[in-house]
Amino acid sequence: MWAELLPVGRSSASGGYRRYAWTGADAECRTWFREQAEARGMAHETDRNGNQWAWLGDPAAGDAVVTGSHLDSVPDGGAFDGPLGVVSSFAALDELRDRGARFTRPVAVVNFGDEEGARFGLACVGSRLTAGRLTAEEAHRLTDGDGITLPQAMEAAGYDPGAIGPDPERLARIGAFVELHVEQGRALDLTGDAVGVASAIWPHGRWRFDFHGEANHAGTTRLADRRDPMPSYAETVLAARREAELAGAVATFGKISVEPNGVNAIPSLVRGWLDSRAADQETLDGVVTGIEKAAREYAAAHGVDLDVVRESFTPVVEFDHALRDEVARILGRDTGLTVPVLATGAGHDAGILSDRIPTAMLFVRNPTGVSHSPAESATEDDCLAGVRALADVLEGLACR
Ligand SMILES: [Zn+2]
Repeated sequence: MWAELLPVGRSSASGGYRRYAWTGADAECRTWFREQAEARGMAHETDRNGNQWAWLGDPAAGDAVVTGSHLDSVPDGGAFDGPLGVVSSFAALDELRDRGARFTRPVAVVNFGDEEGARFGLACVGSRLTAGRLTAEEAHRLTDGDGITLPQAMEAAGYDPGAIGPDPERLARIGAFVELHVEQGRALDLTGDAVGVASAIWPHGRWRFDFHGEANHAGTTRLADRRDPMPSYAETVLAARREAELAGAVATFGKISVEPNGVNAIPSLVRGWLDSRAADQETLDGVVTGIEKAAREYAAAHGVDLDVVRESFTPVVEFDHALRDEVARILGRDTGLTVPVLATGAGHDAGILSDRIPTAMLFVRNPTGVSHSPAESATEDDCLAGVRALADVLEGLACR
């Protein structure tokens, strides 16, 4: 399975993956998923929001145990983020077939569409729509960099966008969703464990900082006469680093746009996007407030106007405690070891669905912690440990 997926959507220039929603690479991934389902005699369906499902047992029976993840990628992403969870799901079912497991609940593997949001700028579109956390009207307005709307892209890929929207009937048939994912940090590397269980997803948000100055000639304008927004922006980046360090949080200016963006022109506008995340709401609020306060002081000192806009926000996700404890108990059962339970700063479909259905996550060790990059990695031994752990969990939940 891994070898089949490996070349799909891979850029020969960067070595990274460009599997964006409703593109040719996405279609290849979807065909692969359907073939995996059919090869196992599983009923395959694509739901109204473009998520793919492979079923063992009667989907209508209710109380289903669902596992899976996503197959799309960020720009020049790694091989593991998403696909490891989907491949491990099918591999875990193969392992359970070999064990002679008999399911007492329906079981499904899911591939959630457009998890990374690389094309339309919003993450987890498939699960958000299903959970009713993104309305059809909002989804209809999503547009990619070429001006193509989400419905147009779905139609071009051969899917009917006419019925996108909340899918409570589908969610009502699911008793538990367990997503396996490569870890996107080094927590497991530091504890020395191959597999861990998620406790929570940190609250996170995006803020846009617009520093308005005055364009002028870089050669003839005296320093004292300038209203240059760039120094205040630069000082704000350093303030973000400092505030995050003090609070044990993270803060990143990873995207910037400059007008007029000329080498010999003082900018009229520097627009920077802040991504910040912390273990709890209060800490995050403190970090962002501190950064904004510093930014206003720097801007004032340079005669620059500052607008700060919160563009998106996702509150803390506490995974279902009963399911999380059950998963940890199942994994510790044979070894008697305590499975590490850890929080993460990355968003996931399991987080989006967590206030609708019980969800849990397993993480597989990432030795470098690098993710959203072609350098993302996991060892084969750890991936196989992840498959066995997921098989144990599915067996514990669906065969009792
Ligand atoms: Zn992912």
